[in-house]
Amino acid sequence: MQSTESLKSKKSSLELHRLKKQIEELEKKKGRGTELISLYIPPDKNIVDVINYLRQEYSQAANIKSARTRKNVQTAIESILQRLKYFNKPPENGLVVFAGTITYNNKEKFEIYLIEPPEKLNTSLYRCDSTFYLEPLKEMLEYKGTYGLLTVDRNEATIALLKGKRIEIVKHMESNVPRKHGRGGQSQRRFEKLIEQAAHEYFKRVGQKASEAFLSVPDLKGVIIGGPGPTKEFFVQEGYLKQEVQKKILDIIDTSYTDEFGIKELVEKASKVFEDLEITKEKNLVQKFLKEVVKDGLAAYGEREVREMLEIGAVDTVLISEDVESFRVKIRCENCGYEEEKTVKNIEILERDLNNKPCPKCKEKSLEIAEKKSTIDEFAELAESTGAKVEVISSDTEEGQQLKAFGGIAAILRFKPK
Ligand code: ZN
Repeated sequence: MQSTESLKSKKSSLELHRLKKQIEELEKKKGRGTELISLYIPPDKNIVDVINYLRQEYSQAANIKSARTRKNVQTAIESILQRLKYFNKPPENGLVVFAGTITYNNKEKFEIYLIEPPEKLNTSLYRCDSTFYLEPLKEMLEYKGTYGLLTVDRNEATIALLKGKRIEIVKHMESNVPRKHGRGGQSQRRFEKLIEQAAHEYFKRVGQKASEAFLSVPDLKGVIIGGPGPTKEFFVQEGYLKQEVQKKILDIIDTSYTDEFGIKELVEKASKVFEDLEITKEKNLVQKFLKEVVKDGLAAYGEREVREMLEIGAVDTVLISEDVESFRVKIRCENCGYEEEKTVKNIEILERDLNNKPCPKCKEKSLEIAEKKSTIDEFAELAESTGAKVEVISSDTEEGQQLKAFGGIAAILRFKPK
């Protein structure tokens, strides 16, 4: 149970890192005219409808005045149509396509990118502009999963979901439980008993509705309970929530309200909980690695050693600092075919250098980057082929900094080779 869950989140830390890098690159790309196409296809969209829509856009493009832009837009649409032929339906989370003629200094190049988003896409959109439209993908990077929220006291309760930064109110409930008032005596005791019975029924309804709402989220990250006074603790202790939900409670927090405002208050006060949760996973992994280093146990570090350990299948988890990113590039001369490979830290600087650098063989200024692969991607591929997990570690934490001191690449091993 635990292992499949952590495997899943491990994959996503790498996916998210890749997406982040890819967005950064796409953001820099510009077209000379309004000719870069962004196409967002949600998973439930019919591919045939998308194709028909693109065909319409293709005919519409015939009206574009500039012959150059017209040609480029039509080329891009044609190219997207070509790619869509290979899909019967969109992938599980939908599909995003970017296509167009990119302007580099004075050169132009047609490029097309197909991206499967890491979360379910709910945007359907076609846009033609001089840059790519990246907002929906950027929002996904902000998305940190769904949390269940519940504020409860004896009068009312509000059930909500927190999806990324968006709060979705599921249900507001009122108790109609009469207030206790102290008259004393026999009838008072009977009256109190009735009140408690009514409260019990109300809590049961709240527990049922909340459990239903939270369990309908397939990858619920956790539940946070709020409300004024001790009722919320009583509600939790008495087990009104289903066992599976109960196990996911991360925190119980005091709020002044139990309505929609109470939910907002709860999210604000819980922000620390969310942050810690994200970071704790990373911290734990780095600490585990450091412990192994200290006792000269199941640890390896540095690019060369980790690569060796991966090759013999000794690695359980690779830890890579997001800051170690460098690129293995193949440079080719467009004129004579001369090729060389090297590792660089910054692709843009290399690109600039290549513009002014003559080819060592034919002396023409026609060197181009033919292939590039980031260190992280290279290690990820190596890891995948040997069944090792990969975790990209942010450098915001003390542990992240400690990892950098080990060259930014480390591994927790399955076994120690002799
Ligand atoms: Zn050459």
